[in-house]
Amino acid sequence: MTAPTYDLGTLHGGLRLDANKDSATASELAVMPVPKQIVLPLEQHAGDPADPLVGIGEHVLRGQMIAAGTGALSAPVHASTSGRVVAVEPWPIARRRGEPGPCIVIESDGEDRAATGREGAIDYGALEQDELIALLLEGGIVGLGGAAFPTAQKLSQARSVPIDMLILNGVECEPWISCDDMLMRERAARVVGGAQILLSALAVEHCHIAVESDKPVALEQLADALGAAGDNRLTLKQVPTIYPSGAEDQLVQLVTNREVPTGGLPTDAGCIVQNVGTAAAVYDWVHLREPLISRVTTVTGPGVKRPMNVVTRLGTTVADLVAYTGGYTDRARILVVGGSMTGRSMSTDRVPVVKASNCILVLDEPAARGPVLPCIRCGECAEVCPIQLLPQQLLWYANADDESRLREYGLTDCIECGCCDLVCPSHIPLTSTFRFAKGRILELEDEKARAERARRRFEARRDRLGREAQARTRELKEQKARAKSLSKDAIADIVRRKRGAPEDDR
Ligand code: SF4
Ligand code: SF4
Repeated sequence: MTAPTYDLGTLHGGLRLDANKDSATASELAVMPVPKQIVLPLEQHAGDPADPLVGIGEHVLRGQMIAAGTGALSAPVHASTSGRVVAVEPWPIARRRGEPGPCIVIESDGEDRAATGREGAIDYGALEQDELIALLLEGGIVGLGGAAFPTAQKLSQARSVPIDMLILNGVECEPWISCDDMLMRERAARVVGGAQILLSALAVEHCHIAVESDKPVALEQLADALGAAGDNRLTLKQVPTIYPSGAEDQLVQLVTNREVPTGGLPTDAGCIVQNVGTAAAVYDWVHLREPLISRVTTVTGPGVKRPMNVVTRLGTTVADLVAYTGGYTDRARILVVGGSMTGRSMSTDRVPVVKASNCILVLDEPAARGPVLPCIRCGECAEVCPIQLLPQQLLWYANADDESRLREYGLTDCIECGCCDLVCPSHIPLTSTFRFAKGRILELEDEKARAERARRRFEARRDRLGREAQARTRELKEQKARAKSLSKDAIADIVRRKRGAPEDDR
């Protein structure tokens, strides 16, 4: 057994929160049977929606690619069971808070037959880095920590800069969420195997698997799996239980003591961070030949009868998943996809589980927070901000809609962790104010980019029309010149003829 190491950097701010994870981790991972109907959104990743490859009435097999990625940040979607496509239509999706988005609806045939032609594990060691990364894209693998950024794209970006460290994120610091904890407890060997594949894809020699100190079983299982793998490139790191130590930049700081520069990425500190669930999905695709068609999802909160972690086929509706775990309690009031700090409340439980659905949290009425009062400049919010921002200043500039000051004070670095909200004695909804202000900045950037594109198009058209006008003027002059020279010749011809000169003398 490899003992976890503790030589850690420090995290500024953060909060020790009630974990609320015991009820969901009390039982083993459950595997939900395939539901009658599967709804697969085409927007399950960071980029543009995937393009459907199947039509209504078509029969599909489990693992068959049914929609292709359409750009750098897009990823394919695979059927999560066998059956018939009954619709390609808008359906409520979590990414749009329950508003409709394009989906492929499959009626299960109850046979769950797998697509053929994928027998046997892939000898990934024999593949070039590019081939391995392309393989991961084909498997529809995206970051399962919540951002759903396509893994192949992240690996490709990391290859274009000097990095020396892969960090597997098993920190899972947000209250209520325990899917990664259960995955590490019960599928630690897959996490370790996935890390080895990712190291090959990156051609990097060091991987830290970071796990919070409040997950002793996961730490033990991972230590055993690492011992069995006997791969000295991988090390287990235990990090303190504090929210939000699992945020990427904070984790890099904690694990390596390297600082990610303001506005930068972990790659600027020589690191790439991948979620432990992503590593397990990579293993499943390369060794078991199963693309990303299921994930572990936590179902929890006072609004569900039996909190637990469930291996769920993507496309299972939240309504079906909650029914599988025993249904709602009479305290169920608010449905959140994600945790209590960064999750999004949904207007309906018809939304399907997707690649990013780490937690279904059903809460009762929120505790009254008291009236919003003016800022008393106590500085509590700055004390807890893990990014070392000045939330009270940001609030001032957000209210004044002062975009340049907001940028100057680092609003775009805010990770919307919610720590400042929790400590503010004036009950000011700081995080939602910052989220809105960031959205406004993005909109303005978008508008500027659109205006810039329009300006370039206008200038290109103007230049083209100018060139065409010049060409026409030149041509006209040449025609006139030809006409002039022709008439001189004609005159000379007439003169010769009058003089009786032979034609051949011309
Ligand atoms: S915690 Fe609230 S009251 Fe205190 S400085 Fe920050 S915004 Fe103002
Ligand atoms: S929400 Fe933003 S400003 Fe508030 S503590 Fe988190 S990172 Fe800092």
